[in-house]
This record gives sequence, structure tokens and C-alpha cells, in this order.
Amino acid sequence: MSIDDKLFTVKYVNNINSHLTNDTKECKNCKEKCCTFICPANVWQWNNETQTMTINYENCLECGACRIACPKHSIDWKYPQGNSGVTFKKG
Ligand code: SF4
Ligand code: SF4
Repeated sequence: MSIDDKLFTVKYVNNINSHLTNDTKECKNCKEKCCTFICPANVWQWNNETQTMTINYENCLECGACRIACPKHSIDWKYPQGNSGVTFKKG
């Protein structure tokens, strides 16, 4: 089963507030931008023209990889509040 297929098996409850934020100043100077390719759900998308990051936090799988990988410790990462966030189903 591909990652894309597996992503169809998870369920999300959205929150109006992002549980992920970044330091845009640090991101502008970040050469690696590893968050944009390490995330299995393509949450982090850098726009070169506007020099801004789009964070599709609604798709976050809460794996924590981006926070660990970010070389500048630029990501403020919290679990989604309340009952929001991801649920993994079996099968
Ligand atoms: S890896 Fe960290 S500093 Fe670099 S672009 Fe991503 S969030 Fe910003
Ligand atoms: S915690 Fe995992 S799924 Fe969520 S944004 Fe970071 S790398 Fe992507």
C-alpha cells in the first residue's frame, strides 16, 4: 500500500487554530528546508516568490519528524487541542 493510499485511511478532526507555527525569519535563511520534504503529509510548503511558508496543519499526522529535523529549531509544535487531530484506523 502506498503512502498516499495509507493517508486515505486516517481521519482528521480539524481545529480552527494551527498547532504548528514556524519562525519565518529563520525559514527565509534556511538552506535545507527539510520540513518541506521530510513530512509524509506535505504539510510544509515554501513559496519562493512570497518567501512564506504555508502550513497545511489540518493534514498533520502528529509524527513529530519536522520538529526533530528542523536545523534551526524554528518549529513550535504542540498537539492539537481538544478532540481535534488525527485518528489512525486499523486495516
Ligand atoms: S527546516 Fe525549519 S527553518 Fe528550515 S524551512 Fe523548515 S521550519 Fe523553517
Ligand atoms: S508532525 Fe509529521 S505529519 Fe505533522 S507536520 Fe510534522 S512531519 Fe508532517
